[in-house]
Formats: sequence, C-alpha cells, structure tokens
Amino acid sequence: MNYSSLLAAAGVEAQALGASGGLLAATPINGATLGHVQTDSAPRIEEKIAAASAAFTAWRGVPGPQRGELVRQFGTLVRAHKSALAQLITLEAGKIASEGLGEVQEVIDICEYAVGLSRQLHGLTLPSERAGHHLLERWQPLGPVGIISAFNFPMAVWAWNASLALVCGDSILWKPSEKTPLCGIALHRLLEQVIAANEFAPRGLSQLIIGGRDAGAQLAAHSALPLISATGSTAMGRTVAQVVAARFGRSLLELGGNNAAVVTASADLALTLRAVVFAAAGTSGQRCTSLRRLFVQRAVYAQLVPQLRRVYATLSIGDPLSADTLMGPLIDAEAFNRMQAALVQARTAGATVHGGERVFPTDLDGGYYVRPALVELQSPIEVMQQETFAPILYVLPYERLDQAIAAQNAVRQGLSSAIFSNDLRETETFLSAAGSDCGIANVNCGTSGAEIGGAFGGEKETGGGREAGSDCWKAYMRRQTQSVNYSGALPLAQGVRFDIG
Ligand code: NAD
Repeated sequence: MNYSSLLAAAGVEAQALGASGGLLAATPINGATLGHVQTDSAPRIEEKIAAASAAFTAWRGVPGPQRGELVRQFGTLVRAHKSALAQLITLEAGKIASEGLGEVQEVIDICEYAVGLSRQLHGLTLPSERAGHHLLERWQPLGPVGIISAFNFPMAVWAWNASLALVCGDSILWKPSEKTPLCGIALHRLLEQVIAANEFAPRGLSQLIIGGRDAGAQLAAHSALPLISATGSTAMGRTVAQVVAARFGRSLLELGGNNAAVVTASADLALTLRAVVFAAAGTSGQRCTSLRRLFVQRAVYAQLVPQLRRVYATLSIGDPLSADTLMGPLIDAEAFNRMQAALVQARTAGATVHGGERVFPTDLDGGYYVRPALVELQSPIEVMQQETFAPILYVLPYERLDQAIAAQNAVRQGLSSAIFSNDLRETETFLSAAGSDCGIANVNCGTSGAEIGGAFGGEKETGGGREAGSDCWKAYMRRQTQSVNYSGALPLAQGVRFDIG
C-alpha cells in the first residue's frame, strides 16, 4: 500500500523523508516503512535550546492576550487540516479513524481553551498586616519548557502543554516519541507557519527535536529548562524525575495507569457493557486511561461477563483507516510480545483467558493485530500490578463495595477509575475520601476519554502531574509574591523592631 498521498496531505512531503539513516518511520497498519527522518545531534539540540532561551526573553514581554492570538491562529490552522492530521495519526499510531479525528479535535479544543486563558492568568491581592502596604501574588512566565511525549497521543499531549505554555509566556521544545516523528513534524510545521506570519512572535519560539530517549535525556538534564513535562511510562518518569530534581528543576509527569472499574448490582448493565468495551478494547488498550481491571458484584457477574465475552469475540479488528473498524493494530512487535507474556503469566497463575491471540486481517500481515483478551479470575494476581499496554481486561467478582474499592486502589498506579451504579450511596462512597484514590473518578462512564476542561493526571506512580484545564496553567508559570510599601514609614512584619538610630 502506498501512503505517500496521505503523508503529503498532512504536510509531510517526500523530501522530508530520507531513504536511509536517522529514525525509521513506519506504520503499524502493515509494518511498512514510511521513510527515514533526520535526527537531531546533541550539538544541534544544544543550539535549539539556546534559540528557545533567546526567544523566551522576547516572548515573556508580549502581552498575554497577544500570545493568545498566536495560539488562536494555530488552532484555526489545525481545524483547517483536521482530516489530514487525523489520518496521519491513524497511519503512524494505528488509531481508528474516529479516534484520530477525536485527537485532533482535542488539539483544537485546548487551543481555544488557552486563548480564553490568555486573558485570565490571574494572581491574588491579599490584605497586608502593615499599614500602607499592598500585598499581592503575581504569575510570571517561567522559561523554555521541554515537552517529551509518548506514541499513543502523538499530537494532543503536546498541544495540552504547548498551548498553555505559549499563552503563559514560555518558549517550548518538543521531543515527540521516536515511534511517531511524522505526527510531530506535521503538527509543528503548522505552528512554525503561524510564528513566521506574526511579527510579534520571536523566531525560535517553538523547537522540534527528533530523536530517541537520549534526546529526551538531554532535555531533562539541561539547566536552561526550568520545567520538563514528560508523558510516558513510569520507568521513563522515574529516570526523568530524578535527573530534573537533581538540578532543582520542576517536572510535570504523566505516567502509566492501571485503571479499574467497579460494577455494582444496581448498575445499568447495557450502558456498562458499552462503556467497558470502549474503555478496555478501544485504542487497542493503548491509552494511559484504558480500563485494565474490572470488579463485578457477584450478583450481576453471570449477566454481564458472558455478554462481554460475546462482544469481545465479535469486535471488528482490522485496517484503522477503514470506517467500520473498531480495533486497529498494536504499535509494534514488542507491544505484542509484552501482551503475550502477560497472558502467559495470567494462565500460569490459574486465570481463564478468552481471546488475546494474534489475528491477521487481509493484506495487513506486517501489522500486530490482536483479539482483545478477557481474563477471568477469582482474586488478584501479580501480573495485574503492572500496566501492560495492550487490550487485556482482568475481570473479578466481589462481594462488598468496600472490598472492591480496596482492590481497585491496591496497585502502584493511580490514574483513572470508574463506578457503574444507580445507587447514590454507592457512587458517593466511591467519590468520597475513602473511595477511589485516583486522579480521575467517574460515575457511569468509562475510565478513558477525558475532556480537556478538568485537570488530567494521576497519583502514585502515575506521577502526580496535572495537565489541560482547571488551574493546570500554573505549572507553566512562576509565582511571585510582591509587597509594595506606599506609606513613607517602614513597619516590619510581625512587629519586629530594628531601629538603627
Ligand atoms: P515511553 O516511556 O517508552 O516513551 C515516552 C517518551 O519518553 C518518548 O518520547 C521517549 O523517547 C522518552 N524517553 C524514554 N526514556 C527516556 C529517558 N530516560 N529520558 C528522557 N526521555 C525518555 O512511553 P510510550 O511507550 O511512548 O508510551 C506509553 C506509556 O505512556 C504508557 O505507560 C502510558 O500509560 C503512558 N502515557 C501516559 C499518559 C498520561 O497522561 N498519564 C498519556 C499517554 C501515555
């Protein structure tokens, strides 16, 4: 299959892709090579950091609403290219067509959010204890921000960070995943166009860095970058967090999840079924918020679980570019092997595994397609502690809600969670301080598919970061407390006296 017209529509012309060397760009649809992308050497990355640092000193002086205007124009351009960008996501990350479109919509949504925010970066005025004094808190631009992103959201995660950082007065450097460099190139080109078209935007304001983990590590270690926003596995975050902390930088971590849902006896099972299948098998289980563990009240287990097995056995798996496909490929052979290893562990521990095998859609032999796996168990097993980035759903019966909540919370990660129930006491218990310990807790909707308005992120080994809406913008600024004395006298705080005669 020739994908060059699709690449060209997304702005990745043939000349951007070499025949050899650099980073190999491939499609998980059939494993075909899309081309080779030139990587940035360590000295070249150093130059880009210097350019972003220089741009920051100009950009921080541009008024917030004008910075918002740049992001508004970018969002408009992305809207105009929505379809081509979405197809590129499908081509490079393997998401089904509708989810590719959804991801680009998320880019547009966060741009619009950031434009409004550019007029609202509000501080505080506080009562001073000293007469004739004015006490306030003000938010100032932070500096060049390093953004390291994962393959599974190859555009939206950067946009969450970039749009907010830009309106906050920061310059940005983006290292996309080595598995999705073309998504990075295409989206970043649109921002470069907007920067070039506006006099008030300094050249070098946004930098794209193509490379692997070494390039990410170079950003993490660099003292010119006060904030590193890193999205990816917990293993990556553990390294990045320590490197950044060692130089007293700030890190914003969005790491792995191990998300669970609790289905109580009062749940609407038809709604639950749809929500569970989308959350667990959608995106081929390759979302940080994918549903991985399901606790079902024993009274409804025999109603829900056979239906789940039936839907799992018949889900349409195949070419993600085709409109009727619900499950596309895994990203690569490594992901497939990790999935199979987890299923072996589950079987060895006594679980009953339905599905999980490789399937071969016509003409797509080079792609790693799998039937989603449903793993039935009576009690938790060791492999459930880890995030296997693939469509595996562990299903367990429970007796009491407090036991289900305890089991849900008994993992190292803390990203997303859900309860399916029509009983107010159950849902409020789940949402209470004694309930879910995750950054996200949903009622009667699945663990995945968050909106940008709320803060997104999770606790424990998910890293503690929060991105997107709410007050997440504060991570991209520095807070300054200011005291202004307009009194003519010099009273000291706490009544301290220091008379020098
Ligand atoms: P990954 O950890 O392999 O790579 C993510 C990024 O980190 C890549 O750009 C990679 O080059 C870079 N990187 C890896 N090691 C590094 C190091 N030592 N120093 C600096 N950079 C380094 O993750 P992946 O396979 O691309 O993505 C899947 C993972 O991402 C899953 O664990 C998923 O849950 C997580 N994820 C989390 C969120 C969230 O918001 N919490 C969102 C998307 C994905």
